[in-house]
Amino acid sequence: MSNHFEVIVIGSGPAGYVCAIRCAQLGLSTALIEKETDASDKPQLGGTCLNVGCIPSKALLDSSQRYADTKSHLAEHGIGVNDVTLNIPEMMTRKEKIVSQLTGGVAGLLKHNKITVLSGAGQLLAGRQVELTDAEGQVALYSADNVVLASGSEPVEIPPAPIDGDRVVDSTGALCFDAVPTRLGVIGAGVIGLELGSVWARLGAEVVILEAMEQFLPAMDEQIAKESAKIFAKQGLDIRLGARVTGVEVTPEQVTVGYSSGDAEHTETFDRLIVAVGRRPRTDKLFSGDSGVSTDERGFVFVNEHCATEAPGVWAVGDIVRGPMLAHKGSEEGVMVAERIHGKAAQLNYEVVPSIIYTHPEVAAVGKNEQELKAEGVDYKVGTFPFAAIGRAQASGETDGLVKIVSDADSDQILGAHVVGPSAADLVQQIVIAMEMAASTEDLQLMVFGHPTMSEAVHEAALAADGRAIHMVNRPQR
Ligand code: FAD
Ligand code: NAD
Repeated sequence: MSNHFEVIVIGSGPAGYVCAIRCAQLGLSTALIEKETDASDKPQLGGTCLNVGCIPSKALLDSSQRYADTKSHLAEHGIGVNDVTLNIPEMMTRKEKIVSQLTGGVAGLLKHNKITVLSGAGQLLAGRQVELTDAEGQVALYSADNVVLASGSEPVEIPPAPIDGDRVVDSTGALCFDAVPTRLGVIGAGVIGLELGSVWARLGAEVVILEAMEQFLPAMDEQIAKESAKIFAKQGLDIRLGARVTGVEVTPEQVTVGYSSGDAEHTETFDRLIVAVGRRPRTDKLFSGDSGVSTDERGFVFVNEHCATEAPGVWAVGDIVRGPMLAHKGSEEGVMVAERIHGKAAQLNYEVVPSIIYTHPEVAAVGKNEQELKAEGVDYKVGTFPFAAIGRAQASGETDGLVKIVSDADSDQILGAHVVGPSAADLVQQIVIAMEMAASTEDLQLMVFGHPTMSEAVHEAALAADGRAIHMVNRPQR
């Protein structure tokens, strides 16, 4: 086997493996390096997303929602269920099966596309050489015309609450508790805190989330964040804002968390604590000092809008570069880079990357929110519509939340959509398509939406922007 490839990708997460597949589809000889190995010493493909992120968390979100529905929401449908039981080991086995099916699927795709998978830690050296160190410490040298860095991210730790992997865990630990905690503490009311906090709350844990910021979900549209906070409180999530954790004391059975809030000091005792305060790029030892690649003070690799680093022929994609840490953002960067390596002028429209919190109901957004438009001095209009006035939402008993669409007051072009409510992720995806096609609110108004669907809330929100909503009384929206 030659040690030279047209493309070497370092890291097999959704950014790296998707990039490698697209490179191979374009006829480029491609190698993919992965440092993690599975129980049989084969490369553990799929990165954070498939192994300890998007997929296992959604498997547990789905299982826990079914449990909560069966326990609490079937009676109103006239359905009685006795003796609902919970088998956590079985739930975990199901989750692990899904993960191995998908990681196995990635291995199959890489093989089918004739991608060389190399096991070990890759480090970029000067001149697009790549040093590979395998699990036994053996070193081999490879070279490539193009190198794509896709080494992903890892959880941030905070000094007052060191992870011990038992009482105090990060998101990975929180995906494999062997029993439902009676009292669960979570530090950080971000995406992970809300999703994994919801999983264990639905399964019966009393969940307290300690958030340092005074504002809940500050990156979300304020109205949607407020509405979400109300819904989560109704579900029993105890979210305490302005809570600064000062220390953690661990005993074999419990963990006591000290935090300050305003002028007061508090303590809370839990049987488990999840630390979910963000993730940081994994760029230690990824490249040598003379490789030509550099990072900002937080470790994000400097790239231009096309994910090219400062070193010729070296690219970086996914969680290690600026922008939201989202699997779909990284994958599309991977595709763009593959196309660019092949000589096409591919681009990525960062304005329309959706973000979703997979709580129940979901919270989802794309484009600009109201506070951003105000700050930019844009003259905009707003259309909102509550799910409570949607027939399908009533029929499903999913009446919490609303759809909100913001558009340019002059041109009518859609600038963003913000949803908390049933199928929020899929509804926002409709607006992603609309925005990508530079659609206006009027375009949505003129479209026919199936009845009865949740999508009708999108139609009505577009109509509401011009005071034309049918199924509610139209009032000024801002
Ligand atoms: P990663 O997926 O982190 O993959 C990087 C890979 O590179 C890893 O396999 C790593 O072992 C390997 N690697 C690192 N260094 C080297 C090296 N030197 N040599 C060889 N290999 C190396 N995002 C969403 O969009 N939707 C979700 O629902 C979602 N849910 C999430 C839930 C949780 C609990 C977590 C933790 C994250 C979630 N995310 C979600 C975020 C998502 O997982 C990441 O944005 C995504 O995985 C980043 O992809 P990536 O390819 O950049 O990096
Ligand atoms: P996050 O940035 O979403 O939230 C972290 C929260 O912790 C913030 O609200 C922050 O103010 C708070 N915080 C920080 N330090 C604190 C402290 N000392 N005490 C109390 N609170 C503190 O980060 P996350 O939830 O860890 O998730 C990491 C990343 O993973 C996200 O940015 C997201 O991109 C990705 N992710 C995405 C999804 C999804 O797309 N559904 C799901 C999970 C994770």
